[in-house]
Amino acid sequence: MTRFCSSCGSSLSLQLPPGEDRERHCCNNCGDIHFINPRIVVASIIDAGGKVLLCQRSIPPRKGYWTLPGGFMECGETMEQAAEREVLEETGAGIDIDSIYMLCEQPDVSEVYLIYRGRPRSLELMLGPECIDAGWFDASEIPWNSLAFPLIAEVLRNYFHDRCSSGALPVRSSRRHPGRGLITSPDNITTVTSLSQGIRRVHFTHVGEPPDGYF
Ligand SMILES: [Zn+2]
Repeated sequence: MTRFCSSCGSSLSLQLPPGEDRERHCCNNCGDIHFINPRIVVASIIDAGGKVLLCQRSIPPRKGYWTLPGGFMECGETMEQAAEREVLEETGAGIDIDSIYMLCEQPDVSEVYLIYRGRPRSLELMLGPECIDAGWFDASEIPWNSLAFPLIAEVLRNYFHDRCSSGALPVRSSRRHPGRGLITSPDNITTVTSLSQGIRRVHFTHVGEPPDGYF
């Protein structure tokens, strides 16, 4: 968070502006309110016949650990463009997006994660500066003990489970409750029944309890 006003360059301080229900960073000179809002992270599960693309991080946080290719959305791009750009920047892989797969909220770090799933146009990789290594892993090859974040393990566990189940892959949501960790609720399981290139109509359908042994 910048400590100076982007309009006039004066210092900011926490104040309760009229009509607001919480303190905001306000300019002490011109009165501009500088809002801080959650950031959107877009990541992708790129599936090549059951093998998923992972990257080994070359930068903090969690340098040396493995994660899905992804990163912060840029202004002016669509979510799918962000997903494609991040995969290309980190691994050199061109991809085709199939669908959103999971929505994850992490209020304690004020981030929202959108996880897409898609397919590579080629298996060849060319590492970007944020990767030490990258490669294709099936469920038994995933470095489960060296994943960068609990959320990544949660996403991959769900994905390999869903991939082995019959029927269309669902769209899931996962919530991170302060002090309680990640919870992917069964009653949040939803199914996309129509997702075309034209008008994107998504119908959400409750499909009940997960199969035995899922959790
Ligand atoms: Zn100002």
